Amino acid sequence: MNAPIREPSFRESVDLMFNRAVALMDLSPGLEEKIRVCNSTYIVRFGVRLRGQIQTFTGYRAVHSEHMEPVKGGIRYATNVNQDEVEALAALMTYKCALVEAPFGGSKGGLCIDPRQYDEHELELITRRFAYELAKRDLIHPSQNVPAPDMGTGEREMAWIADQYSRMNTRDINARACVTGKPLHAGGIAGRVEATGRGVQYALREFFRHPEDTRIAGLSPTLDGKRVIVQGLGNVGYHAAKFLSEEDGCKIVGIIERDGALLDENGLHVEQVRAWISAHGGVTGYADATHVEDGASVLEMPCDILIPAALEAVINQGNAERIKASLIIEAANGPITAGADDVLRKNGCVVIPDMYANAGGVTVSYFEWVKNLSHIRFGRMQRRQEESRHDLLIHELERLSADKGLGWELSPGFKEQYLRGAGELELVRSGLDDTMRAAYGHMREVWHSRGDVPDLRVAAYLVAISRVAASYRAKGL
Ligand code: NAD
Repeated sequence: MNAPIREPSFRESVDLMFNRAVALMDLSPGLEEKIRVCNSTYIVRFGVRLRGQIQTFTGYRAVHSEHMEPVKGGIRYATNVNQDEVEALAALMTYKCALVEAPFGGSKGGLCIDPRQYDEHELELITRRFAYELAKRDLIHPSQNVPAPDMGTGEREMAWIADQYSRMNTRDINARACVTGKPLHAGGIAGRVEATGRGVQYALREFFRHPEDTRIAGLSPTLDGKRVIVQGLGNVGYHAAKFLSEEDGCKIVGIIERDGALLDENGLHVEQVRAWISAHGGVTGYADATHVEDGASVLEMPCDILIPAALEAVINQGNAERIKASLIIEAANGPITAGADDVLRKNGCVVIPDMYANAGGVTVSYFEWVKNLSHIRFGRMQRRQEESRHDLLIHELERLSADKGLGWELSPGFKEQYLRGAGELELVRSGLDDTMRAAYGHMREVWHSRGDVPDLRVAAYLVAISRVAASYRAKGL
């Protein structure tokens, strides 16, 4: 009888991947250990009076590395949040920030709670109390520790956290920078909600700009027409699926949710599925597609691109051998275990790793934090000046054409587009696109230029760890 497969925990998986990369580096054992370990994890148990009785909640905030401060990382609301998970996620944040050159250390937080069991008012009470516990220990602070949304949290929770911090720090002029992912009216930035999904789209576009790389995955070098399966139509999965289908010609042939999956070879209508989930709490009953009860089995169906955008460890040693996707982009954190990674590589599947693939969120969070510290919206100073310079050029062209009888006529579409100065959303998307392209370039160079780097994940770790190491060395460690 075969022994049952022991799957490493999430943190063990991150450590295994870290070890694989440092084995190719020349770090002193002391520095290697310093980078690997999680600096601290704070666990808090607090009570909130709800429905006539006190309920106790358990929350975590792990700080993996303070080589740069503030440290940054989301706060997750889920029943299975635990120390191992937040520490693994905090470590990933350290490497992710280093890879995309966001000047932060890594942190992560979580609250053991099923948010669907509470109404809005109750969630506000719980969130404010959790924020209070963290803020009084500087685990929420504009220059020390800046949370953001993650699974189960969004703009609403971030606005409560920002307000709670402001109430506790009335003289802090930078109070709004204590958390990112806030709604626009509470100091947020245009494009933050879509940022992680948008980043997944930009990452795929960049991957498909390199025929050498698409060839390794056995794919033709164009995104148009690619068959895509998405797991989790939440913030990240929904935006990625929406942009890829509406703007890049991809066909979303499968959507996997908690209560099963939807299939349609002609491509699912992402907006309609999302609206159905919002109204009914799941995909069951959606009429315009085939419903499959065993959602996880759809991960194993043939497709060009698989986008796990929900949970960790969904591709593991139990199913890796049956995965048929040519390319997997890890929109979620840690969806592939270290053991599964080896199997996928052996079978020729290319993995675009989480550290890079979902870095769009922290990248735009970085822009939001800068906006909060500078107290001015991006584009406010230069937008109209840019427009008037463009206007000058258009007028001059039109004058020349008329004076010389050249009969040039600029198309109205061009004129309108060229004349419009960039607002905040355009600038944010441009900054995100630039970040995703640059980071891919750095990973790719390491992947292809050395003979000993087997895949993009090891390359990503190598780039990130060498930057963190340089930062520690500069501090004299
Ligand atoms: P979310 O809560 O908005 O969405 C998660 C989705 O997954 C929901 O639609 C949920 O119903 C679905 N889901 C839950 N369990 C499932 C299951 N067993 N099978 C299929 N679907 C299931 O969360 P999110 O913010 O989109 O985060 C998703 C992942 O992306 C997480 O791993 C998170 O850490 C990562 N991430 C998020 C951000 C961000 O900005 N929100 C940034 C970086 C990484």
